[in-house]
Amino acid sequence: MRISFVPSSAFVVLLTALVTFHPAAPALFAQPTPSLTGGSRANIDVLHYEFRIDFPNRGALDTIRFAATTTARRTSAVTSLSLDLVASLHVDSTYVNGVPSTFTRPGDSVNVALPAGSMDTIRVAIFYHGVPTDGLIIRRDATGAWTAFGDNFPDRARQWLATVDHPSDKALVDWIVRAPAPHRVIANGELVEESLEPSVTTAPIVRTHWRTIRPIYTAVMVIGVAPFAVLELGDTACGLAERAGCVRQSVWTNPERRAVIPGNFARAGEIVALFSKLVGPFPYEKLAHVASSTRYGGMENAGAIFYAEHLFKPGSPTESLIAHETAHQWFGDAVTEREWPHVWLSEGFATYFAALWTEHAHGDSAFRQDLSNMRTKVLKSPITVEKPVVDEGLDSVARVLNTNVYEKAGFTLHLLRREIGDSAFFRGIRAYYVAHRHSNALTADLQRAFEKTAGRSLEWFFAQWMRRPGVADLTATWHWDSTRKRVVVAVVQGHQFAPYKLSLTVDVVDAKGATKRVRLAIPAASTSSITIPLTTAPRSLNFDADVSLLGTIRSSRR
Ligand SMILES: [Zn+2]
Repeated sequence: MRISFVPSSAFVVLLTALVTFHPAAPALFAQPTPSLTGGSRANIDVLHYEFRIDFPNRGALDTIRFAATTTARRTSAVTSLSLDLVASLHVDSTYVNGVPSTFTRPGDSVNVALPAGSMDTIRVAIFYHGVPTDGLIIRRDATGAWTAFGDNFPDRARQWLATVDHPSDKALVDWIVRAPAPHRVIANGELVEESLEPSVTTAPIVRTHWRTIRPIYTAVMVIGVAPFAVLELGDTACGLAERAGCVRQSVWTNPERRAVIPGNFARAGEIVALFSKLVGPFPYEKLAHVASSTRYGGMENAGAIFYAEHLFKPGSPTESLIAHETAHQWFGDAVTEREWPHVWLSEGFATYFAALWTEHAHGDSAFRQDLSNMRTKVLKSPITVEKPVVDEGLDSVARVLNTNVYEKAGFTLHLLRREIGDSAFFRGIRAYYVAHRHSNALTADLQRAFEKTAGRSLEWFFAQWMRRPGVADLTATWHWDSTRKRVVVAVVQGHQFAPYKLSLTVDVVDAKGATKRVRLAIPAASTSSITIPLTTAPRSLNFDADVSLLGTIRSSRR
């Protein structure tokens, strides 16, 4: 997702208020793995969810009825299924394999008793009702019509969906939603059915069924319900999808805003095509772009990107935002961080791939400007000198999104590309993606993939940029040694952090004004001296002309 309009302090306060921590489950139940936001369940693997949701005829502002059926594999040790679901929703009844069962409601969970344990697959149905106050955002749009939009990140699926609400347990999902016409429903997956149920007493009911054929995690499992106008973008990226054929794209918005569906979506097909070629086939059944009530600027729900409705105006959402959310379909959605401290595997990639779109579509100088903007954010943000990108000490999901996981991680991917070269870099990404798509990954998985394609250890690189705080701080002093025909560059590194091993780009300008680019290998030492052999004295040296230093440099001629 990208946070483009909520001030960060307000955002943190808001999230803090929503975070819930689960007490340890009773010994009888499957023990949650110690983890943020409740964690995954030991010995349980959810395979599939079916959510049936009935919106009342007068609109979603009244009680909504839910039936959530979870199909899960368990080991013999498991005698109950514990799902996350906020206490404010009322559970009416539960069934296991079609037979009524007992349940308890400790905190924001529902524990359903299972028959005596064996290694098997169970189907647990939970019927509940209420008016969600978060997760499913219910409000009236500008025309007064009610709308409902899922907005689950990071751990808000439990606000309306009974789930194992953690990124490590991905599952297939079927959405079967009934809502009064003229409302329509957009969701993850492919459209199975959209039909009218005639009614003699009320407005006709639209029954909509969407189904995913790829497992997804709960934060990107959503529906949108509104009196939508739909603009088909048609078949895009043909031959570049996991399924045979093309990637069908569309824009879903309020009918009032249809006249201002921005032109930037005209490039949505090219964006999918570029990333498919760089990474792997587009992972999902279709791609919808939806004007919604998300609290984020954009939210990368699988196969159905939700944008803040106010961004639907001429010139917006920007190509960069569309590219960021589209890149998440591969990074974050198809390959999902197994634990929250590794969320940079989602946000860092989305940030860098938006810059790669810029490089592809608008050229080198626009790309350097993107890199420069990323670096400026890193240098301005206090968190980059306080915490590492992979923050294993992360104690609250409220702090999971910050400049480290967006811009510092994105820039670090660029450093890695410079370090190992384009070929090894993109081969590494493709190998990592293929190995983990529709599953989960940790930072070490990515490191191993790059080490394989680079043919050498990158332990120092990941330790330096990902697992400790800070940025490089260089002072370079140079002089011309006329006797030995060489430039000598003395580099001193700042003391706040351990010295960095890095590659420093220098443009050497000769007396006639011609420029020669060289890369200096700076060792991880507090002082170093590097020589550049030249035939004639240079007029000047320009350091970091290609914006590939993550840090600051001051330079002077001695
Ligand atoms: Zn993002």
